[in-house]
Amino acid sequence: MANHFSTPSACSSPPHFLAQKAQVLNLIILGPPGAGKGTVAHFLAKKLSIPHISTGNLLRSNAHQNTKLGKTALVYTERGHFVPDELIFNMLFERIEQKDCTKGHILDGFPRTLSQAEIYQKRVEALSKAMVIHLDISDQEVMKRLAYRLICSVCNAPYNLITAPPKISMTCDQCLTKLAQRTDDQKEVVASRLAIYHKNADCLIDYYAKKNILKTVSCNRPIQEIVDEIFSKIDLI
Ligand code: AMP
Repeated sequence: MANHFSTPSACSSPPHFLAQKAQVLNLIILGPPGAGKGTVAHFLAKKLSIPHISTGNLLRSNAHQNTKLGKTALVYTERGHFVPDELIFNMLFERIEQKDCTKGHILDGFPRTLSQAEIYQKRVEALSKAMVIHLDISDQEVMKRLAYRLICSVCNAPYNLITAPPKISMTCDQCLTKLAQRTDDQKEVVASRLAIYHKNADCLIDYYAKKNILKTVSCNRPIQEIVDEIFSKIDLI
């Protein structure tokens, strides 16, 4: 994997493919675990024809394929701790340089910290329009949702035993793989992930609010309503 993180020039100059600001739209979906970032990003990606990139999914795919990155990352992800920035940036920047990201991308699970936000912003800001969607949800609702969340380890499709169950019990609708609960969705790990989220969220929200690119959307309602509200806000930028 190329090292995109340690090269100062990689952070200060935008990548060559970002040809014209007006044509490139980068969206960031912010919110605690269980807020529905993946589901929202999935709908937006379909509507806008730009890819949904989840750093968590990229890490899980690497772990599933037993790559060096995957094995290193597991030490952190299984405890709900952040994976070191260098690994995250190398993986992310390599992904957003791929051809399907020419018109932009939708980030889910990134940035997690102010320093991640600042490094990413330097990299893409000059030549792209950006919008940050903050999914607002209570911790109580998150705990309830994650207790019932299942995921496919092969295609990363998310399910919920109450609100979005698979057609066949414990089986992925798309690729028929056996579904499982994420190890980091267990109650104790969720509590720690939420604490880490809250420690960083205020700084991130403040950072994007000052840039005037933050939209907050309440998530305690049906997904279609949430997505419609986001689409109406995107139309305005
Ligand atoms: P997620 O699927 O977004 O909940 O991410 C699952 C796990 O992957 C997190 O609990 C972290 O351990 C790790 N992870 C994902 N994205 C990042 C990131 N931007 N920075 C550091 N660690 C991350």
